[in-house]
Amino acid sequence: MKRIYLSSPHLSGLEVQFLQEALESGWIAPLGPQVEAFEQEFAEVVGAPYALALSSGTAAIHLALILAGVGPGDEVAVSTLTFAASAFPVLYLGAKPVFVDSERTSWNMDPGLLAEFLEARAKKGKLPKAVVLVHLYGQSADIDAIQGLCQEYGLTLIEDAAEALGSTYKGKSPGTFGFAGIFSFNGNKIITTSGGGMLVSNDEKLIAHARKLATQAREPVPWYEHREVGYNYRMSNLLAAVGRAQLRTLEERVQARRRIYERYVAGLSDLPGLSFQPEAPWGRHTRWLTVMLVDREAFGRGPEEIRQALEGLGIETRPVWKPLHLQPVFHGAETVGGGVAEDLFARGLCLPSGSSLTPEEQDRVIEAIRSLAET
Ligand SMILES: *Cc1c(COP(=O)(O)O)cnc(C)c1O
Repeated sequence: MKRIYLSSPHLSGLEVQFLQEALESGWIAPLGPQVEAFEQEFAEVVGAPYALALSSGTAAIHLALILAGVGPGDEVAVSTLTFAASAFPVLYLGAKPVFVDSERTSWNMDPGLLAEFLEARAKKGKLPKAVVLVHLYGQSADIDAIQGLCQEYGLTLIEDAAEALGSTYKGKSPGTFGFAGIFSFNGNKIITTSGGGMLVSNDEKLIAHARKLATQAREPVPWYEHREVGYNYRMSNLLAAVGRAQLRTLEERVQARRRIYERYVAGLSDLPGLSFQPEAPWGRHTRWLTVMLVDREAFGRGPEEIRQALEGLGIETRPVWKPLHLQPVFHGAETVGGGVAEDLFARGLCLPSGSSLTPEEQDRVIEAIRSLAET
């Protein structure tokens, strides 16, 4: 039987046409007209005035932190329930992450905990420099509350919207509220360029500076002149062509993933001990991944037993992100709360959610889980 993946890339059918256009134009090199067009089209879709296409979402976070002035010894508050790439760039800069727990409405950073932490730190005169706010699994955090705190205490807000393209917060795209926002086009994301990222901002100068840093920080003179440390972080023209083709299907992809979520709910929620990540009242969840919570006692099996049983049937599922404050690589980092993220990690299981998943394949997943409940 065909293996069912968690979230596999889904071609739109337009990629070949866009790639052919890029190849025939002779622009194989990084940069070129496809990159510019992708940036413009992407900026329009998310409603950000300026966008910069990069080699990865991680590169985008790194540049955003550099431009926020984060350096050795600085602290950056980061959501603890996320992929390590949200926090790795903090380490690249010799800065220190402080991990902040989730709330239960959206599973994203808890503004109440952040407020307590900042109040205590303000008294000591030792505030972090920035916040990396993650929008997890296709759902926006409570941005207004976090942004209000950043304004009150003078912190720079960087939004990690790598998993949240297509979602909304009060009608707008997450990633467009703070100092800068980042997106990812890695292979498992809602649209993909096989690998790539985007940095967006309302600040034209910030994007211009990021553009320079991402192209080895060349000064605008005929010879190679460098006054700052640069990076090779741009997106290639060929991959931008793939991105343009993918972007045209974004709304369909969101609808498909939301339908998959609805079908899981219809097929599983009568079983004891199973529930799903809620949709917060402030906007649209894309259901990039459908995440199920398993109450071991009520269901009879825990999420890891379910994962292994499904693996044996050729179905890929995955635990919820292991909180970063529990990761050996971040050992010793200060943590604010942590119990909610630990609980979600202990009980959560991400189900196959790719937009190309067929109803028959999804029925295989649903039947497999149902059979575990009944044995
Ligand atoms: C995928 C992801 C990233 C990193 O993006 P890449 O393009 O893979 O570098 C960062 N943060 C989160 C939350 C992600 O899911």
